[in-house]
Amino acid sequence: MARISKGEGWSALALDGQIDEHNRLSELDSLLSDASRLYVDLGAIRRINSIGVRDWVVWLTAARQRFAEVILTDCPPAIMHEVNLVKNFAAGARIATFRVPYYCEACGKESMSLLKSSDLLAQGIKEPPSDRCERVECRNDLDDDGTFYFAFLDEQAGMSPTAAPAGEAERVRDHLAQASQQPLSGESEDAHARHSRVVQPLKPEVTRGSVGTPQSVQSSSPPTAKPSGVDLVFVLALVAMLAVLGVLIYLIVTLE
Ligand SMILES: [Zn+2]
Repeated sequence: MARISKGEGWSALALDGQIDEHNRLSELDSLLSDASRLYVDLGAIRRINSIGVRDWVVWLTAARQRFAEVILTDCPPAIMHEVNLVKNFAAGARIATFRVPYYCEACGKESMSLLKSSDLLAQGIKEPPSDRCERVECRNDLDDDGTFYFAFLDEQAGMSPTAAPAGEAERVRDHLAQASQQPLSGESEDAHARHSRVVQPLKPEVTRGSVGTPQSVQSSSPPTAKPSGVDLVFVLALVAMLAVLGVLIYLIVTLE
């Protein structure tokens, strides 16, 4: 599923679910209108696997040739890991906003901050800014390796400034939020079922929307109850065993 929108000078796309072997990235190209800038909102991506990474890199390389600027927004931790791990995962693309997971060891609070790369670069920050917790004694730390997580900023720092007018990213986000879901051709029922089974593992403190870390994604289908027939057989076997035991005790007592 994808949401697509466009405006003056830009074309935009919001992806959700998983980028895996069932991805339909190549089908998106014909749906996008030509523009100077392509915005790709990745906020609802929950997981990406190695085949997804391979297809994404191919797709992004083609998008970089078609659009003067490709701007990735709302990149969740699953995406940021690939950005920092896979050399050309975001090659030439601008990472405008990204999410940073925090965890407080004192109270167990998990939270997610949405950060703007341009703000961090302007302030010369290359490590996670502290995120306050409600209680004074608390310490809210990045739930990840900070140096690794923020390594991408080095490459972002070397990029030429964006040609996007001020406030465009916010307008794009609003447009995408209003755009209706566009099912891609051939997307199977299975794919929908798989998406809807994924639970949102984050606490309510999440800034906007919610995206899970892969390890906390789990099936929400409840454990199926045992058929009552199995229980009945078990009870009957237990009764039979008790009866045999009773007879044995009776025999022992009466034989003495
Ligand atoms: Zn705390």
